[in-house]
Amino acid sequence: MDYRELAELLFPDITKTPDDYEKIYPPRGLPQGARVTRMAPSPTGFIHLGNLYGAMADERIAHSTGGVCFLRIEDTDDKREVEGAVPVLIDTLSYFGINFDEGAVSDPPKGEYGPYYQSMRGDIYKACVKRLVEKGMAYPCFLTEDEIAEIRKGQEARKETPGIYGSYSKYRDASLEEVKAHLSAGEIPVMRFRSEGDPSKYFTVTDGIRGKLSMPQNTQDVVILKQTGLPTYHFAHVVDDHFMRTTHVVRGEEWLPSLPIHVQLFDAMGWEYPVFCHNTVLMKVDEETGQKRKLSKRKDPELGLSYYKQLGYFPEAVREYLMTILNSDYEEWRAANPDSDYGLFAFSPEKMSNSGTMFDLSKLNDVSKDVLARKTAEEIYDFCLGWAEEYRPGKAADMKARKDFYLSIFSIDRGGEKPRKDLVYAEQIMKFISYFFDDEFVKEDDYPAECAGDLEKILSGYIAGYDPADDNSAWFAKVRSLASGLGYAEKPKDYKKAPEQYKGHVGHVSSVIRAAVTGRTSSPDLWTIQQIMGPDMVKKRIERAIDEL
Ligand code: GLU
Repeated sequence: MDYRELAELLFPDITKTPDDYEKIYPPRGLPQGARVTRMAPSPTGFIHLGNLYGAMADERIAHSTGGVCFLRIEDTDDKREVEGAVPVLIDTLSYFGINFDEGAVSDPPKGEYGPYYQSMRGDIYKACVKRLVEKGMAYPCFLTEDEIAEIRKGQEARKETPGIYGSYSKYRDASLEEVKAHLSAGEIPVMRFRSEGDPSKYFTVTDGIRGKLSMPQNTQDVVILKQTGLPTYHFAHVVDDHFMRTTHVVRGEEWLPSLPIHVQLFDAMGWEYPVFCHNTVLMKVDEETGQKRKLSKRKDPELGLSYYKQLGYFPEAVREYLMTILNSDYEEWRAANPDSDYGLFAFSPEKMSNSGTMFDLSKLNDVSKDVLARKTAEEIYDFCLGWAEEYRPGKAADMKARKDFYLSIFSIDRGGEKPRKDLVYAEQIMKFISYFFDDEFVKEDDYPAECAGDLEKILSGYIAGYDPADDNSAWFAKVRSLASGLGYAEKPKDYKKAPEQYKGHVGHVSSVIRAAVTGRTSSPDLWTIQQIMGPDMVKKRIERAIDEL
């Protein structure tokens, strides 16, 4: 068989060769040790936490070594593609602070190694397939779906490995005439790789996360070019990661079983492998069963990144949490370096988990509380305003009209040695501060039982003596004396010593006031809250509480 003639017959319009592309996409000339990574999502319209987890690894691996991290869109599968998915994807990633140096991040894309959309790289793939055909390493296959199903049925019945390989590959050694006859009958072939793999032979690679891996060689004649003329993932990623000069391929562990195919394709093209870094799936403890399981698109809204954006999580908090699950010693580093930029942490793929990474929303919330406790009131205001503009326009208008009011709310217990840690994400923050707004006020908590018989006396006594000019200690002295006048201990410890002598203590009495003013029995410092509310609102709340008794 004259493979050159076959190649020409199949790809008459392809004039460039892989050697030409070597020149068009030369090695990047980065300093020694600089790593090139990429995120390569398919535009399916669903961007999830696992994508961000991988993207952060890509970003860290590249940027901690002075390398390049780029974005490539893997849009060769029309069936899975969702219109408008790419801009959403780019926006979402940039919201979470993933900044690519290159690729499909802008319109037009940025960089010298494009196109960065696989659908626009058809000629490059074809030039590579043509080269394989010329070397007798790829061939056109005209098997119909029915024929393939038939082959599979026979293989199943005989308990053989399913697939198109060896003698099952009817067109492996078809003659030029036979190929010509199919083509002139209007049949469109797929292109298959001709595998010379031996299942009893093993190959070895060193995975960046998992270390040394040894796997049997691939024997399947996999499809490399589909009938559409576009490549399969297997072939596309090999070609792209070669010509885009990727040094580290971070991807999901679901690709591990096809590694033998990829290694074989790199070998066939005569190219060096990148360092494969197969990461793990994100797992959680199922609320119902208590068992560990994979995060699921159907069951777990927290898998989608839109969840965090809609609720108004600070991107920095999500990133900070992901860092803790990305590298095992990150938390320890953070404890020792509370104020350092996370970029200073020595990130390494070897420190990534290789068996199911546990994702825990409540841990994320704790991390978020820590992150937000370090923010200024102005930063909280700015972020919440941005969120409200998108999700609560009415609230945004009020925030803009009364910026100082909001700033004083966000300033409560902030900036000191021990800032409060009760803000988690924008929606929760808005609920948390809702008692500052009459139209949102809800009486959430009951009054303490100790004061059941004295509610009216406490509230009317309090409002009679309330003077907004009192400082915090003068104010509290009045609460104490109100309490003792009604038979409550002035100090909790007095009550603890001799509970039979009192109805309760000053804490119970102030809880009544707190619940009347804020609707809650626990809140930040009540005096401060009242100073921000102003005397009218305080009075109205107490009067309303008396009316509702
Ligand atoms: N498009 C593939 C995916 O979304 C990319 C895998 C890779 O990073 O190579 O799973």
